[in-house]
Amino acid sequence: DEPLKLSYLIIMTIKKILTAPDPLLKTISKPVEKVDDEIRKLMDDMLETMYDAPGIGLAAVQVGVPRRVIVMDISWNKEDGIKEPKYFVNPVISNKAKDLSIYEEGCLSVPDQYAEIERPEKCVINYLDYDGKEKQEEAEGLFATWIQHEMDHHEGMLFIDHLSTLKKILIVKKLVKAKKQSSKERIVA
Ligand code: ZN
Repeated sequence: DEPLKLSYLIIMTIKKILTAPDPLLKTISKPVEKVDDEIRKLMDDMLETMYDAPGIGLAAVQVGVPRRVIVMDISWNKEDGIKEPKYFVNPVISNKAKDLSIYEEGCLSVPDQYAEIERPEKCVINYLDYDGKEKQEEAEGLFATWIQHEMDHHEGMLFIDHLSTLKKILIVKKLVKAKKQSSKERIVA
């Protein structure tokens, strides 16, 4: 028998991504009590926002919702174009490797700024998935770096918080200047 085919109308919303130095980005995110339709709608919207940006990961606080929710797709620039979204609710990291790896990181909340950041090259993540099921995964390489980057957002941290104070101040100054510039342009238009 042919399986019953259902089509769903999924309405997703692209949300505004907050940028530093927005004080909300320093909020410590609260855990989610239950993965319900409201949380799934949040994850759908976050994913759409992330693909639109485009980025490979997004934490809920970046769209102004300080809850422990992350969406990620580190395969988005693969040649086959197949999307592999991942959802992490209430993620907890353990077993961080002593060995470190360095990646050049950027962040949708720190536009056009990049820096090399050192992080443990492997770790274990426990989380609830899109359906609220408990999961455990070993992460390494880009995935390990990126889940740690996103989880920093839950603690109100950005990748620039791993840099020296001087480097950080320079980047924040550039961001403030860029924000002023873009609001000026809006007034002129
Ligand atoms: Zn980020």
